[in-house]
Amino acid sequence: MLRLYNTLSQTKEPFLPVTPGKVGMYVCGPTVYSNSHIGHMVGPVIFDTVKRYLVYLGYDVTWVVNITDIDDKLIVQAQKDGTTVKELAERVTADYVVCMEALGVDGIDYMPRATEYIPEILAMTQGLVDKGFAYASGGDVYFDVTKAPEYGKLSHRDPEELQAGARIEPTAIKRHPADFALWKGSKPGEPSWESPFGPGRPGWHIECSAMSSKLLGEHFDIHGGGLDLVFPHHENEVVQSESFSGKPFATYWMHNGLLTKNGKKISKSDPGTVILMSDLLKTHSPDVLRALFLTSHYRRPIDYGPDRLDELARGLHLFDNLFHRYERLTGQSFYTLKAPTHRDHDFGDMPVPTEVWELRQKFLDAMDDDFNTGGALGILYDLARSLNRHADTGKLESAGDPTELSIFKNGTIVLRELTNILGLFRKAPVTSATGSDELTGKLLDLLVTLRTQVRKAKNFALSDEIRDKLTALGVTLEDRPDGTGWKLG
Ligand SMILES: [Zn+2]
Repeated sequence: MLRLYNTLSQTKEPFLPVTPGKVGMYVCGPTVYSNSHIGHMVGPVIFDTVKRYLVYLGYDVTWVVNITDIDDKLIVQAQKDGTTVKELAERVTADYVVCMEALGVDGIDYMPRATEYIPEILAMTQGLVDKGFAYASGGDVYFDVTKAPEYGKLSHRDPEELQAGARIEPTAIKRHPADFALWKGSKPGEPSWESPFGPGRPGWHIECSAMSSKLLGEHFDIHGGGLDLVFPHHENEVVQSESFSGKPFATYWMHNGLLTKNGKKISKSDPGTVILMSDLLKTHSPDVLRALFLTSHYRRPIDYGPDRLDELARGLHLFDNLFHRYERLTGQSFYTLKAPTHRDHDFGDMPVPTEVWELRQKFLDAMDDDFNTGGALGILYDLARSLNRHADTGKLESAGDPTELSIFKNGTIVLRELTNILGLFRKAPVTSATGSDELTGKLLDLLVTLRTQVRKAKNFALSDEIRDKLTALGVTLEDRPDGTGWKLG
């Protein structure tokens, strides 16, 4: 049974959704004032994998990722760029979406923009004022933390610590230093909306409370985000949502570790640490980047460095080679294989090597244990090695025993089933480093297959000529015991 670590209880808990069979999941998205760097993609890839696994377990999952399209940072950046907040937000959101699509993050059901939920935000703000949890002051509206004894329960801080940690603002308009803004009065020239409290715009925290309850209901299952959001953002979300509705907010709080570059926090104030996702995607395959985010446990920090990506790319060659081998032996592409999409799939009496079944079970056990994707990915390597061994011992290249071949095929279908859960190997790789396209890859695969037939016919002179001419074009062929691979450059 699936268990997941809940920041609220600080323990692993069995997963029990509010409504049987359904899951509502909300993950805090970006403030769209600058294009996505590598750190922005960690959460999307992790929670995309969480959704994939929940769907595989049979849940009907609704996943919401919000876009904060109004904020001080956007106002400042739009002024610098000589553009409007709206144009900046749309441009940066488009970049975010393109990066996610490239990494196979395709399960988001709703991507609400804060500016599209002003009536809901104002209704919640007014409700909190009416119930005595919030007060209007100097054109702003603040949540009064002294009215909520449970404030601090998510971040496990006591109120005194919160008071000490709160940013002391040099105004007399807040009753308590830890009180936070639900609505901010606007300055002249800033984007603003009319409200009973005067013209202004929403505070950051209230957006997420208003949008999640509108799209998922007041009590939903999973709320996710980066570890840096636990306090104050998520703490404030919980207190204002529960004070407003009188109901529990999210049952489970999942927080992913943050990405560092060579051990340093990624920060716009340290430009050497900012690596744009659009740049990385020009030189690295989406699978390598996705594997980077899934190799560590999601609650731990992920350290990025070029060596780390090269190491992962070398590791993933094991799979490329197996997929080429599968295609040579069966004439089918691994990437188009139909595989089971549910855990309770009935395999009937399909013959599969025992070792493959055992590894499948281990993979599912790892995922059930708080989405241990790192452990699960390690098991996929074992599974690929096991399939290669089966093909070696069955001498599939030469003997061609149809029973052994069909067992190998079935084992590969199990590999396809499990790689789909991690969202890996969705498409045949494009060797983008040299600007090659999909057709080039297919043509090279075809040439390699023809050359293998030439070698089988013992025409070594022609086989060598093909290799040498390809080398001259910058394509290196590697003859290995399990077949021939190619690489560009
Ligand atoms: Zn949020």
